[in-house]
Amino acid sequence: MLPWLLSPYHAIVNRLSANRLHHALLLTGTEGIGKMQLAERLANIMLCKLPAEHQPCQQCQSCQLFAAGTHPDFHMLQSERQIGVDLVRESIAKLSRTSQLSGNKVLIIPAAETMTEAAANALLKTLEEPTANTYLILVTHQLSRILPTILSRCEKHALPTPTTQQSLEWLRQQGMEVTEAQLQAYAYAPLKVQSSLSEPGGVQYADFITGLESIIAGNTDETQFAGNWQEEAKRIVGWCQHYIHRQYIRNQKQSALAVYNECIKALVHLQNPGVNKKLVLSTLLAQFSHLDLT
Ligand SMILES: [Zn+2]
Repeated sequence: MLPWLLSPYHAIVNRLSANRLHHALLLTGTEGIGKMQLAERLANIMLCKLPAEHQPCQQCQSCQLFAAGTHPDFHMLQSERQIGVDLVRESIAKLSRTSQLSGNKVLIIPAAETMTEAAANALLKTLEEPTANTYLILVTHQLSRILPTILSRCEKHALPTPTTQQSLEWLRQQGMEVTEAQLQAYAYAPLKVQSSLSEPGGVQYADFITGLESIIAGNTDETQFAGNWQEEAKRIVGWCQHYIHRQYIRNQKQSALAVYNECIKALVHLQNPGVNKKLVLSTLLAQFSHLDLT
């Protein structure tokens, strides 16, 4: 378990073992701190036949099925876009069946804020009167977008954001030496840093900075970088935005502010599915060339 989530994890599991846990949990907190890891570990222990010392046994049939991703009483309500009413009804129907392993049934709803109003309304009844031995775990990083009717029927757990020190230490344990500036580039979300750095062939932040600074110095043609970086255009624009924002804070130059606005425009263009990413990037990077930041 992620060290900064140990305390909420233990608090929830204590109540689970005492049979005093609410059947509907809402896990909230900023992005990239491990909310889904916590939700899945909770589901694992809720389904385990022989949990001991706050941990699922990882031996029983239930734990083995869970690890294989084939547990018949474990459901995940996921959607590429919004979560619509049909998906919710489908999940409720699954939950209303008798548990196949004669234990608990668990439904996780990641990105619960993406439920449509109709979907949320369809879920209300289950939240009020759940079938026996059923747990629902809603996960969101946008608490304000959860309907009050849903909120009032769940037990809310606001998960802590790790301190910079905790994040850097944890990343080091994962074999990733990261600076505070890098962590900051990922909005202090250690799991975002981890997934970005462990992505095969992904652009490294340090390489990006080297590239961008050589563009600013006028030593490199930006189109080459635009070509190399186009597969990760959104992330690159996010880094550009962060970089220029820091420059603006430092020197208050209008030229920096203008480039910052160009970053926002580029992000808007990238929302368009058919967009030429290389062109968007090279147009933006050209704004950085010969940018006077001194
Ligand atoms: Zn087990």
